[in-house]
Order: sequence, then structure tokens, then C-alpha cells
Amino acid sequence: MNNLPSSITLCEVGLRDGLQNEKTLLPTEEKISLFRGLIDAGFKVIEVGSFMHPKAVPQMADTDDVFKAIGQVPGVELRALIPNLRGVQRAVDCGCKKVKLNVSASRQHNLKNLNMTPEESVSRFADCVQASKENGIEISGSISMPFGSPWEGRTPVEDVDSIIEAYMNVGITEISLSDTSGMAVPVQVYDLCSHVKEKYPEATWWLHFHNTRGLAIANILAAMEAGMTQFDSSFGGLGGCPFVPNAAGNISTEDVLNMCDESGIETGIDIVKVMELSKRVGSLLNHSLDSYILRAGRAQDLILSNN
Ligand code: ZN
Repeated sequence: MNNLPSSITLCEVGLRDGLQNEKTLLPTEEKISLFRGLIDAGFKVIEVGSFMHPKAVPQMADTDDVFKAIGQVPGVELRALIPNLRGVQRAVDCGCKKVKLNVSASRQHNLKNLNMTPEESVSRFADCVQASKENGIEISGSISMPFGSPWEGRTPVEDVDSIIEAYMNVGITEISLSDTSGMAVPVQVYDLCSHVKEKYPEATWWLHFHNTRGLAIANILAAMEAGMTQFDSSFGGLGGCPFVPNAAGNISTEDVLNMCDESGIETGIDIVKVMELSKRVGSLLNHSLDSYILRAGRAQDLILSNN
């Protein structure tokens, strides 16, 4: 393959996207301990939690306490998902320096849930951008279901463009394309990634794939071919999507690391340490995990004896 990058950056989202979908609420101490394990494994970007309303997402109600306990780690970006201006305020209060907003690319989904078009939702984020700037907090935006949604099928590229432009209009240029519905396929990923990179050269991009239909790792490879180098993943493949029937989790971090390690793509992350963390998460949550590498082990660890 000709166009693969020599290195990529992974953001571990298991503490947020993973744990927010679990019935078991992990104690704050346990989250902090997992966080320290991620730092030890070499992650330079971690999504620590979210500042949603605690009644809506009780799994993330202690995100403020987690941030207060961990402080800032030099050279590591710690981010949190926020719904609105209140989220920025909570970030300020607990020392979180990076926040991420989200909007659905599905017009029907957005109209049904918020009675607004996606562009109207994004234009209302202007107050979050302003407050973030005033408080020295970095802000980014995510677009969920930019490839497809269960409401409309494949998402038109023009719709994605117009949401990207709405983000840029409020001053957000770091954008995540987030396939929460797990409907993306590699050729489409390659095309959309190539398109946005060319059309919006001032933007920086993250890609976030769920493995609902087994295509997440192929989608990452397709995005890499199109020049993308920043990806979310989740230890043990934890995660889901409350709006999408039978949505599977995020692509598992160890599966991505295995592909990169065996393909000469640097990540700076120790896969053995991540596998240990994922096993620990599985036993804390007391269920099996959607991770090929945890099931089968690394190929390089298989040395079968003939004796
Ligand atoms: Zn996700």
C-alpha cells in the first residue's frame, strides 16, 4: 500500500464512550486507576469523560472528580465531551483543558431530538466557543453519523459539508467524523476523507469508527490511505450508541494497535499494557469484550510447538 502514514495518534475513548454505555457504574477510584494505566501505556490523547447531565448519563456523573484527581499530565491532551455552555463551565471548574461538542448529521434525528437542523445546533455552540476562549480551553466538534444514519440511510456529502462549514463559522476547526451507527464502508470512508481534506485544508480531523458491521478496522485503513492520522478507539471495544439498534462498540484499541504494530505504523502505545487494561475492564464490568486480539492473542505470541 502506497499512502499509509508512518505514524498515527490514537485517542482512547473507553473511559467515556465505553463506560457511558455500561450498566455497571465504576467507582471513581477505578476510573482514575484505569486512566493511570493508559498514561503508562503511552497514550497522548485521552477522552476522560463527559459533562452531560448526571441524570441523563449517570455513568459520567463523576467526570469532574476524575479531572480534579488526575490534574494535567504534561504532553498529554485530556478531553471531555460537553453538550452545551454548562459543560464549558464544569470544565473550567475542574481543570479540564479540552472539550468536544457533538451534532448529529442526520437531519431527521436532530429535528426529532432538538427540533433544530444540525446547522442551527452548531450555530448555538458559538457561546461555548466564546467561553472556552475566555478560559483558555481548546474546543473541538464532532459530527455523528456523517456516513449513514438509520433514519436517512447514506448521509449526503453536501449535508456533511454544510455542518463542517457551520462549525467553521463559529470558529471550530478540529472536527471528528464519528460513525456511531456503524454504517460506513471503506470506499465511502476513503472518498469522504479525501473530499474533506481537500475542501477544508485549514481543518484537522479525527475519525471515530464503531465495529457494528465488522468494517471498523478496514475503515481506519481506508481513512489512513486518504491521509488521516488521528483515530479514536476504545479498550476492549467497549461502547455503543443509544439511538442505534444493536450498535456495537467502538473499534477495540488493541485491534488497531495490532494492525499498526504489524504494519510498521508507529503509535507510541504499548499493546501488551493495553491488553492487560482491557482484560481488567472486562472483569470489572463482568462481561465479554468485542476484541479480536483479546480473544485470539497477537499472532506473534503464537508459537506452536510440534512436540
Ligand atoms: Zn463511539
